Amino acid sequence: MQVKDQSARMQRGVGWVLVSFLTTWWVFCHPSKAIADVVPAAPASDLRSVVLTGKIVTMNAARDVWPNGALWVHNGVIVAVARDREALESAVGELPNPAGDAQQIQALRAARVVHVNGVIYPGLIDLHNHPEYAIYPLLPIKRKYKDRYEWRFYDDDYARRITNLNTLLTAPHYLDLALEVGRYGEYKALVGGTTSLQGGRANLAYAKEECLVRNIETSPVASRLAFSRVDIGRDAAEWQRMREERNNGMLVVHLAEGVGPRMANEFEALKRSGLLGPELVAIHGVGLTGVQFKEMASVGAKLVWSPLSNFLLYGQTADIAVARAAGVKLSLAPDWTPSGSKSILGELKVADLVNIHQLGGTLSNRELVEMVTINPAEAMGWQGRLGTIAPGYLADLVIVDDSVDDPYRNLVLATEENVRLVMIRGDALYGDQTLMGLFRFAGELEVLPVGRQGVSSRAASRVKVLAPNCPATSLPKMSFQETAGRLQQALLLRPADVAKRISLEQFSKDFLICGAGKPNDVPTSADAQRLLACRFQLPFETTRLSPLATNADTQFFKTLVTNPNLPSYLKRLPGYYSTNQGAKRSTTQSPAGSIR
Ligand SMILES: [Zn+2]
Repeated sequence: MQVKDQSARMQRGVGWVLVSFLTTWWVFCHPSKAIADVVPAAPASDLRSVVLTGKIVTMNAARDVWPNGALWVHNGVIVAVARDREALESAVGELPNPAGDAQQIQALRAARVVHVNGVIYPGLIDLHNHPEYAIYPLLPIKRKYKDRYEWRFYDDDYARRITNLNTLLTAPHYLDLALEVGRYGEYKALVGGTTSLQGGRANLAYAKEECLVRNIETSPVASRLAFSRVDIGRDAAEWQRMREERNNGMLVVHLAEGVGPRMANEFEALKRSGLLGPELVAIHGVGLTGVQFKEMASVGAKLVWSPLSNFLLYGQTADIAVARAAGVKLSLAPDWTPSGSKSILGELKVADLVNIHQLGGTLSNRELVEMVTINPAEAMGWQGRLGTIAPGYLADLVIVDDSVDDPYRNLVLATEENVRLVMIRGDALYGDQTLMGLFRFAGELEVLPVGRQGVSSRAASRVKVLAPNCPATSLPKMSFQETAGRLQQALLLRPADVAKRISLEQFSKDFLICGAGKPNDVPTSADAQRLLACRFQLPFETTRLSPLATNADTQFFKTLVTNPNLPSYLKRLPGYYSTNQGAKRSTTQSPAGSIR
């Protein structure tokens, strides 16, 4: 089935007439930016010039919110945005117009108008994740850890459930599913309204080319790159490499993830190595002191807060009230699925509960939204490009249901079911079938299992679809069904499947390491069982592929509430998912209690 209104296709031709004008205008206004960033090489979406109307939360300097706003997206760029459609035409008329003609007004008038029936925000920027682990369910954590070194290096359960399993799944000489694993992380991000994602490992196949969401380490958004690190300062050579990375871009590093002197010392070591500066984007900071936060603020270093992961593992989180009072610029991100929220939308609810019950409501709803839009954009040096809806910015947008009057509270309370559309580079990639069908051919779209089975709320019953492929890249075509199917099959660890997937040469190598003799000439199920046991300490139980959306994952809440480290108030988290999100609510309603 094709998109109903064929006139949309005509506009592509009209749109390309404008490319030279827009490029000239962009370079005029942003002389340091590369032209290649502005005009994508090959459009991934059918509709390249569109006027979106709805409530617009701009996150601009004045924090304008326009209930009947309008914005024009053309070839991946927000050309103009205004309080209503009439004002949009005036705004376009006032744009720099080196050609001195009326073409841009004509192109605006030719652009298709889509009323989104929702609230338009800048795309959410996730400054801390590990997308390759998004396939795993929440870990059944049984004890409190002091810091991340305790569980990462000395915990057998973690090694078997995560480290060993991930090696088996992703290494080319084992099951070779790195592309599928990475892609699944991107699906989960999209479902949670994320448009930029940190933590993609460059050595995994999916991260070599940008496909669905932006990878902050490689996306050509700004001239400065980003370098992400899990471990820091293991030797002098590593500190030196970090200084070199700092000279070229942002350093996004785990810092003081845990409590105790060892964590506070990480900060001091980093400072001694000359790395405390405006390029530092520190993740976690659980063990940082007030003095250290002041030092960070004084040099413009940033902090990424991941409260759920911190509480589940360590029973506490960073002292956000002190960091905020010190003037540290804060971002909020989910960390990863094994000990955190599925996406930014989930982590916003955790932050809301912490704010209400532990911070005395210090953070306003607006600040929470800033922590997932404008603040991470600034932390990455992306101001002028992302994090705000303004002329000349890249068209990364998320649109959610208009459920409560306060537009900031509206995003804090929105669940995955409320996400109506996710647009990246001007391409509609994911959202409600009805809305996506206005942008893409039905044949390009695939239904995703996001709504709750048997739940009759308006939002939950809407069909969500994804455009799973990236024709502008050399990456193979993969459907969600194929990807998820392969991953779930692999997670079952059936010896007969494993025997077929791994070469005799690899069997022989591993058997030698294990002292397990020789495999059969054609490896058998029994050989596979021996390999799994001796090389990976597997299997111990079946791992279920983590569902994309929180509401579709009943095990998530069961595991969450039995965690021994969680403060009791965080056990109210399921309450955010049980209300009828599709119905219009008043500003004062909150699953968590009072709101600001
Ligand atoms: Zn992490």
